[in-house]
Amino acid sequence: MCNQFLDAEVYPNLDRIDSLEPGLMKSLVTKAGEQGLLATSFPEEYGGLGKDFVTSTIINEYLGAGHSFSVAIAAHTGIGTLPILYFGTPEQKEKYIPKLITGEWAGAYGLTEPNSGSDALGAKTTAKLSEDGKYYILNGQKCWITNGGFAQVYTVFAKVDGDKFTGFIVDRGTEGFTQGPEEKKMGIKGSSTVQLYFQDCKVPAENLLGEVGKGHRIAFNILNIGRLKLCAAAIGGARKSLSGTVEYAKTREQFKQPISNFGAIKHKLAEMAIRIYVAESALYRTAKWIDEKEHELLASGKPFSEALLGGPTLAPMWWLWLAGFVLAEALRYWAIATLGQRWNTRILVIDGLPAIRSGPYRFVAHPNYLAVALELVCIPMIFDAWITAAIASVLNAALLLGIRIPAEQRAVAAASQAVRERD
Ligand SMILES: Cc1cc2nc3c(=O)[nH]c(=O)nc-3n(C[C@H](O)[C@H](O)[C@H](O)COP(=O)(O)OP(=O)(O)OC[C@H]3O[C@@H](n4cnc5c(N)ncnc54)[C@H](O)[C@@H]3O)c2cc1C
Repeated sequence: MCNQFLDAEVYPNLDRIDSLEPGLMKSLVTKAGEQGLLATSFPEEYGGLGKDFVTSTIINEYLGAGHSFSVAIAAHTGIGTLPILYFGTPEQKEKYIPKLITGEWAGAYGLTEPNSGSDALGAKTTAKLSEDGKYYILNGQKCWITNGGFAQVYTVFAKVDGDKFTGFIVDRGTEGFTQGPEEKKMGIKGSSTVQLYFQDCKVPAENLLGEVGKGHRIAFNILNIGRLKLCAAAIGGARKSLSGTVEYAKTREQFKQPISNFGAIKHKLAEMAIRIYVAESALYRTAKWIDEKEHELLASGKPFSEALLGGPTLAPMWWLWLAGFVLAEALRYWAIATLGQRWNTRILVIDGLPAIRSGPYRFVAHPNYLAVALELVCIPMIFDAWITAAIASVLNAALLLGIRIPAEQRAVAAASQAVRERD
């Protein structure tokens, strides 16, 4: 269904999308909504399909092959809609979610400012409750806001009284709220990216999202899911690139044969496939963990929002994978440096990646069997993608067999504790 949608609605219109044709991206979001592609894991009481997180991740992945459209759709279903789903009051959910998941309205997320990017809590945008208590008056500026040019609903972060970081729902058309022109980007040119301006912007007090001073909970938990969705979309794009690359390598002939016959090309294709497999393993493993934890917490009586947010965030999985990656990289470079110097190993550079040209003759020739054994262990690690793929396979097998890796459990418990302490 995702592929059909991309074939029918997106691929024939790539140039129009990239030129930011007015109204086009919004109409695609609406069409995707009409086909149910935005509603996958949203609760049925708001018109969603009530599917699990893994299912919505699959949809995200496949739509990820949709060039700039995939950015708009991932931002809309993730950072654009989830803040209200997880932190909104019943009235806010009732008002916004049904329109967002049918694509009638598009959502955006305004956190970044010209002087606060990574340091998101350094935001300068302020909010002050009006004397009659009916409005929060917002003043400030946001930048790089995806879908900002056509969204109807924005989650915006501002500091109440200049120091309490807080979330707000801001509707397009709110007095004092305007958007800047579209940024001309180097890539994903068709996704809308604009600045937002707030000049004595009167946001109704009932549009406060969550609690005053607790905006960090919304901002960071939602960003975590946004990152996972970005990963899914990147895999979808990578998978499409690999298909196209294989097709080209099979049909492009040089020296009277398809270039796919050449070892260097086979190596590149294998590397692409391995890396996609590794990323896919990490993605779906994390998605499954989220599903499991949500179900566990729901069964223990927690409400929907707390079921996701009171439990472990995605951070532990990332730390685990980062640790694995860093270890493999460190071993790889250590092996290259040590073995390369000691035995004058010839190091080739293929696409910027060093690889050792080695042959069995060197093992036979070298008298130090301990060193030889060490090299035998290290050489597979030189090919980091392979070793990471092997780790991914072991973890996948453990997941299928229901075996919990102790380090993983400890990481999850520690992160859970950290989240509770932070709150
Ligand atoms: C296409 C696009 C779409 C976007 N969409 C949105 C959106 O919808 N909503 C939104 O709110 N924002 C959005 N952003 C903004 C994005 O989230 C920020 O770009 C991001 O938070 C990084 O901030 P920055 O660009 O200001 O980089 P900076 O924070 O200035 O970082 C610059 C560099 O310094 C590094 N750095 C920063 N701090 C440290 C540190 N402590 N240690 C080591 N290195 C560090 C960073 O890794 C980076 O390499 C978007 C950005 C782009 C490009």
